[in-house]
Amino acid sequence: MTVHFPFQNTYAALPANFFARVAPTPVTSPRLIKLNRPLALQLGLDPDLLETPEGAEILAGKRLPDGADPIAMAYAGHQFGHFVPQLGDGRAILLGEVVDADGVRRDIQLKGSGPTPFSRRGDGRAALGPVLREYIVSEAMATLGIPTTRSLAAVLTGESVLRETALPGAVLTRVASSHIRVGTFQYFAARRDTEGVRQLADHVIARHYPELADHERPYLALLGAVIARQADLVARWLLVGFIHGVMNTDNSSISGETIDYGPCAFMDHYDPKQVFSSIDEMGRYAYANQPRIAQWNMTRLAECLLPLISDDPDKAVAEAQAAIGEFVEVFDTAYQAGLRRKLGLFSARDDDRILAQDLLDAMARNQADFTLTFRRLSDAALGPDYDGGVRQLFADPAAYDEWAARWRQRLGGEPEDSKQDSRARRTAMRAVNPAFIPRNHRVEAVIEAAVNRDDFVPFENLLAVLSKPYEDQPAFSAYAEPPEPHERVLQTFCGT
Ligand code: AMP
Ligand code: MG
Repeated sequence: MTVHFPFQNTYAALPANFFARVAPTPVTSPRLIKLNRPLALQLGLDPDLLETPEGAEILAGKRLPDGADPIAMAYAGHQFGHFVPQLGDGRAILLGEVVDADGVRRDIQLKGSGPTPFSRRGDGRAALGPVLREYIVSEAMATLGIPTTRSLAAVLTGESVLRETALPGAVLTRVASSHIRVGTFQYFAARRDTEGVRQLADHVIARHYPELADHERPYLALLGAVIARQADLVARWLLVGFIHGVMNTDNSSISGETIDYGPCAFMDHYDPKQVFSSIDEMGRYAYANQPRIAQWNMTRLAECLLPLISDDPDKAVAEAQAAIGEFVEVFDTAYQAGLRRKLGLFSARDDDRILAQDLLDAMARNQADFTLTFRRLSDAALGPDYDGGVRQLFADPAAYDEWAARWRQRLGGEPEDSKQDSRARRTAMRAVNPAFIPRNHRVEAVIEAAVNRDDFVPFENLLAVLSKPYEDQPAFSAYAEPPEPHERVLQTFCGT
């Protein structure tokens, strides 16, 4: 039996300047580390066959499955604010698309499968560490309910890649609703290829926004729809303490999924200025900057779409600006609603934002752990007798007490019809305030064990814990804890 991929490729049918046809480079001895069996089933793939040696060869790029039409996609992008007219898939190859069990078209892409015409000076390869990080964090985001690319498999290539030192090489099989980025639009716009921008926009509408196909202003509506998804996405990031780390326009997905996990990390103690990425020296992509940056990225998308929005340039600019202005409101609505859920508020009041902000400010001043504060606040919903857990997270517990008194007053003021008993409130809060996130020191420990000792047990354990982020899992309570001072990871690296 050979593995059958039910490919139905559409991107590869676009004009030849959208991509370069290129096959993965074979590697010596592929070894499967991890297959995401539920995702394989969802995609209509046979997990048992993918776990055979032949499956490992496919997932490492050594053997091409029938029906694959391998391409490297062309794109441009602003990297840290500087425009690069040609980036493209330099270490990734799209094998093709399948339509999943829910009828959603999904890209299947190998990341780290060898050089392409877009590799520039890179080797087209990926090291094991970044592959494991992307696998862990993308799957954690999915279980947290945040739109994201997925990880279908991780394989070792049997070859080493040279970074600062020689490291084990690996390939990640990434699944995305598409790999079309803001930078993909920029690629054509930078070449003044308005026809290319239009073909791409039409492809995107058919694929991601089919409800806009009959819109009287489809391209303006497309801009608005992408802005809304990005605004919603970034609100969700902030609500779990996620820092993407490299929000360049080439790492900004048109479908609204989180994409390109590099030096990303979840914060431990709450600090709006938190930056982990070693290459983000100016803090451009700091935690609290992410909404502003997403809006900036959407402005770059708007510039690409201007010629399609209207033949009258002034009108196009005015309409695009109005659409970009909407970002703030969509973001704020999603973010405030999310904060209200995290605080167990079922109704909305104008000054809820102040209540929430005051908690965040107190957390920042008191080095309180972001995830644990909200998780333990869920218990505090039962009453002041249950404050102990959350109090001890604050350097000065009195700062919490002062805030908690106001919170309880506000809870007491919930309108009668939506007044919940405290158990129901606790349950609702626990369903939105995770106990487990992929804490940075845990991810680093997984990578250390895998890279230095070929030990994948920590990787499996961490994945298992993160598969149920909202359950207590007492046997794994240590995974919920922030790092000890000596365990703290202060910097993350792209490692490409
Ligand atoms: P990223 O870090 O994913 O945002 O990548 C930025 C650009 O660098 C993209 O065009 C990548 O394809 C390219 N790139 C990153 N790492 C490599 C590598 N090892 N070989 C070739 N191209 C790479
Ligand atoms: Mg990228």
